[in-house]
Amino acid sequence: MAKARKIVKSVTIVADKCNGCRACEVICSAFHAAPRYSSNNPARSRIRIVREPLRDIYLPVYAGEYTQSECTGRDKYIIDGKEYSECDFCRASCPSRDLFKEPDSGLPLKCDMCEDTPPLAKPKCVEWCLNDALIYEEREEEVDVEEVRLGDVEIGIESLIDKYGLQQVLDTVARRVKP
Ligand code: SF4
Ligand code: SF4
Repeated sequence: MAKARKIVKSVTIVADKCNGCRACEVICSAFHAAPRYSSNNPARSRIRIVREPLRDIYLPVYAGEYTQSECTGRDKYIIDGKEYSECDFCRASCPSRDLFKEPDSGLPLKCDMCEDTPPLAKPKCVEWCLNDALIYEEREEEVDVEEVRLGDVEIGIESLIDKYGLQQVLDTVARRVKP
């Protein structure tokens, strides 16, 4: 299979440095608002902070893949004496919780590393994290050329098909494009 080089973007989360200020949630939701910066609502953010001040837990979690079914088993973590709930580290937009779903439509949200034209020097959440809890890196990797990355639109269509069925989605699109 043919190979190509691609830039892989990654964020290292230094949870010990997070103080739960939620600036990352605010800027992410504002950057992705339409029109851009017209509103902010952490419920629309693609990064969320698991925040339990009384237990000194502040854990940034990025929105990952959409999944149509919840998992059958759950894992509990105890780190440095702090117990995390079973879903805390999970990045999925899944049916068992409201996290990483657009609040009005219920469509899944996924971090896009702030893809933009021209490209950003670093993702907005990283730029706004004044505590250095989010560290951005880029590296080059060799990948198969057929590797396809789903964009927001494809993820949304996939979840609509799961919810309403292909035919209903096609009928609705056909109605909308009629002159
Ligand atoms: S901006 Fe940084 S310190 Fe503030 S909540 Fe987000 S990750 Fe934590
Ligand atoms: S990288 Fe961009 S899209 Fe992803 S959580 Fe941070 S601000 Fe949101």
